[in-house]
Amino acid sequence: CGIVGYAGSGPACGKPLDVCMQGLRRLEYRGYDSAGVALAAPGMDQIVVRKKAGRLANLEAEIAVHPLPDATVGIGHTRWATNGAPIDVNAHPHISEDGRIALIHNGIIENANSLKFDLQTEGYVFSSGTDTEVAAKLLGKIANEIIEELGHPDLFEALRRLARMLTGAFTILAEDVRQPDIVVGARHDSPLVVGLGDGENFLGSDVAAFVAYTKQALELGQDQAVCISGGSVVVTDFDGNVIDDGNRFTVDWD
Ligand code: GLU
Repeated sequence: CGIVGYAGSGPACGKPLDVCMQGLRRLEYRGYDSAGVALAAPGMDQIVVRKKAGRLANLEAEIAVHPLPDATVGIGHTRWATNGAPIDVNAHPHISEDGRIALIHNGIIENANSLKFDLQTEGYVFSSGTDTEVAAKLLGKIANEIIEELGHPDLFEALRRLARMLTGAFTILAEDVRQPDIVVGARHDSPLVVGLGDGENFLGSDVAAFVAYTKQALELGQDQAVCISGGSVVVTDFDGNVIDDGNRFTVDWD
């Protein structure tokens, strides 16, 4: 339903969480039934996630009781349930089996059941009723295969491979504790906008997600993927070909 992502370039701090919560507040107008955030920072072994069914106030209360650590990157999501009831366990972000990757998703993955069946055959266990958890588990598997293949993590390439395997509509963002300087995104039949900052960059399902921080934006085209860090924005197609004539614009409202 609503998506926000943030990558900074300085040391771990409270800003990724602040940006995610501010973005979720701004996206509230879309309506939702649960909200969640996931953070990563250098030195973390597992992604840190907080998520709650109901209004944003429920998530804020959860974070007040279980505070979040400083971070370098963050993603946040408000959910409009399509696959699975509006309960805590179905809220996004969803995580990979090893807990190193978090993923959020807008839309509906139409081949989720067959992908889930294949993963279950390999021994993967699912804790939610969502199509999104299938994407999170599959991304974790692909990311680990890439590490075997290349000798180093490449979440951007992992997300492109995932995107090529999915049918249906999706905007997906992901982050990985092994690459705590980037947030990656991909879109098919669902919007994704980049917010261009100074030493920091943003992602949103619409500009409302980051307009409090920057008015400079870049709209992703159909079947494009993006990798943001604090100091860079790279857009490619799902095969990895770099796209450099992106649709840039200035947001004229606040
Ligand atoms: N299909 C996903 C779910 O039901 C995402 C829904 C959304 O766009 O918020 O969890």
